[in-house]
Amino acid sequence: MTITPQLPACTRGPLISAEGLNGVGKTYLTNRAVEGLGAKPLMLDEFSQRANGRPGLGEALLRSLREASAGDPFLRGGTPMTEALILMAIKRHDLDTVLPELSSGRVVVEGRSVDTTAVCQALLLHPGDLDAALQTAVALLGLASSYRPLPDLTVLVTDDASKALERAQRRDQCVFTTEQATFMREACTLFEWLAATDPDRYRVVDRRHINEYEAAEQIRAWIEGVGGGLGCMVEPWQGPGAACTCCGRLAEIQSA
Ligand SMILES: [Zn+2]
Repeated sequence: MTITPQLPACTRGPLISAEGLNGVGKTYLTNRAVEGLGAKPLMLDEFSQRANGRPGLGEALLRSLREASAGDPFLRGGTPMTEALILMAIKRHDLDTVLPELSSGRVVVEGRSVDTTAVCQALLLHPGDLDAALQTAVALLGLASSYRPLPDLTVLVTDDASKALERAQRRDQCVFTTEQATFMREACTLFEWLAATDPDRYRVVDRRHINEYEAAEQIRAWIEGVGGGLGCMVEPWQGPGAACTCCGRLAEIQSA
């Protein structure tokens, strides 16, 4: 029997993302879940909640996408790959802004992460072809993970697309066009398919089967459970030998 020496886990906190369609209730449920936690995570707003903006590069990048997409609710400006790279840069900026908190051991919950970018941009690159979109979404996640580490845990909140559409329209006091509604239905399916490709990272809350109390409790338990024994966070583009971004430990020591 070989005994592998166990190194202490990294001192960082877990990075968790909440994903899902507009109107599916991910922000509401995540906020409810967090109310039940003793140590409050740092919550990072999703794109749509930043309409009035905070200063900083992330906001400036988001503003440029808004302007180029002329009011489209999904920030579609006609050049999906360029938009994908800008959205990944925004998510990298988000990570940069939370690194001190993450390094100090605090839980960070981001509303939408790179999965939203992978799903939406893949659909734009393959209109009407969900199978091809899934392949591209997986590839886009691979690209995103060379910009920044993926979340330790991703909670996908899903539901009947028509219910999410109703909620989003009521909340935003708008009526989606048929084309926009079709885009949302396809995104709903693709989120679920993408989650199924990586069961280690994703946890799925399906509102077709559980009520909001059960959903919030489930999310709370998942957030609480991800804490212990996290590995170090190494810059994906730095290669072997890089130090952990959070605790500074060297990669050789981590794998020794
Ligand atoms: Zn570390």
